[in-house]
Amino acid sequence: MAKTIQAIRGMNDCLPTQSPLWQKVEGTVKDVVSAYGYSEVRMPIVEMTNLFCRAIGEVTDVVEKEMYTFEDRNGDSLSLRPEGTAGCVRAGIENGLLYNQEQRLWYMGPMFRHERPQKGRYRQFHQCGVEVFGLNGPDVDAELIMMTARLWKQLGINEHVRLELNSIGSLEARANYREALVAFLQQHEDVLDEDCKRRMHTNPLRVLDTKVPEIQAVLVDAPKLSEYLDEESKQHFAGLCELLDAAGIQYTLNEKLVRGLDYYNRTVFEWVTESLGSQGTVCGGGRYDGLVEQLGGKATPAVGFAMGLERLVLLMETLELNATRPVVDVYMVTMGEGTLVAGMALAERLREQVPGLRVMTHFGGGNFKKQFKRADKVGAAVALVLGEDEVANGLVTYKDLKGGEQLTISQDDAAEKLAQLV
Ligand code: ATP
Ligand code: MG
Repeated sequence: MAKTIQAIRGMNDCLPTQSPLWQKVEGTVKDVVSAYGYSEVRMPIVEMTNLFCRAIGEVTDVVEKEMYTFEDRNGDSLSLRPEGTAGCVRAGIENGLLYNQEQRLWYMGPMFRHERPQKGRYRQFHQCGVEVFGLNGPDVDAELIMMTARLWKQLGINEHVRLELNSIGSLEARANYREALVAFLQQHEDVLDEDCKRRMHTNPLRVLDTKVPEIQAVLVDAPKLSEYLDEESKQHFAGLCELLDAAGIQYTLNEKLVRGLDYYNRTVFEWVTESLGSQGTVCGGGRYDGLVEQLGGKATPAVGFAMGLERLVLLMETLELNATRPVVDVYMVTMGEGTLVAGMALAERLREQVPGLRVMTHFGGGNFKKQFKRADKVGAAVALVLGEDEVANGLVTYKDLKGGEQLTISQDDAAEKLAQLV
């Protein structure tokens, strides 16, 4: 036998046993974003490397060490997208969607980061992102958070996630804060690790993100970003908190929440769970009012979030919310001369008459026992049986595989009888 070829580390297949739960999560996400009137946008998976360097920032984990970057046959540097916001802004500018316009958009698809694979962290993973352009008030920030809260409720995980919120202010406010923070970090340089030392000069706010307990302990006394916030950002944040209070959404203020990517300003938030170990952030987002201009468009306020679908699926599995209905409702069993042709024709007719009904036809022959075993295996609720007698008389035998009821009915009445299954 030839040697088998394996999937790339950190890139997973979604198997038939797993896809129903994925479809449920994706379907619920689509229902919820649609309920707010948002439109879908689809971007390429590969973009110019420059786009990500400029949008995400050179001195971020994502650009420094996580991107899949390669030269194509023309010698252009391309990268697999590590996130969706940069491509979405690029597409918006390029297609004239952002110029003096308001856009409320969402997308879903695979993202790629060369990270160490572990539970909840993969090299190909999937995000759903939502991005709003052209609106600068806290109202839309609140709506995005309400939208995610609605999603958690519909997925049944709302008791297991909590919201962390912060404002990181304007670019100027952050520049002032940065100075104060660097001065503080310099005094404590001896406890910083290599990563933090490097970041102290390149991107000091990211030091606040450190997961090292000893450094976290020192940071307790670091200057606080909230003391440097500009008046407008303060008001924006107060407005957001008021709207969340009115909507009954609970949150914790987390001064250390600065988010990993450079482009954020003002509102930043994360939804976290305790049920997935250290990969606990299921959704993160915030404002990025400067990014459109930074990428060559006209200055346009913007806000968005992205959620990791693997982590939502994992959370639902952990909470045992993964019960999904089987993929087959009706199993078509046939026996005798000419019955398979009749069975396939009846199955086609039923698919037309009962939209949403999932009918699987048995192939490969075999006795009744074998065919009913297959029906059970695929989880069908009902078997329809066609023998030569039934076919000759336009009848079909209906067998309820869960309850046991069995009766022979006219093929013309089968649709009505089966409609209850959808
Ligand atoms: P983390 O701190 O866990 O690395 P992040 O800040 O890098 O997350 P974002 O860039 O904000 O993540 O992406 C939004 C969401 O996408 C995350 O909250 C997470 O749910 C998911 N996500 C990010 N990276 C991965 C990955 N490598 N594998 C699976 N999901 C991921
Ligand atoms: Mg990360």
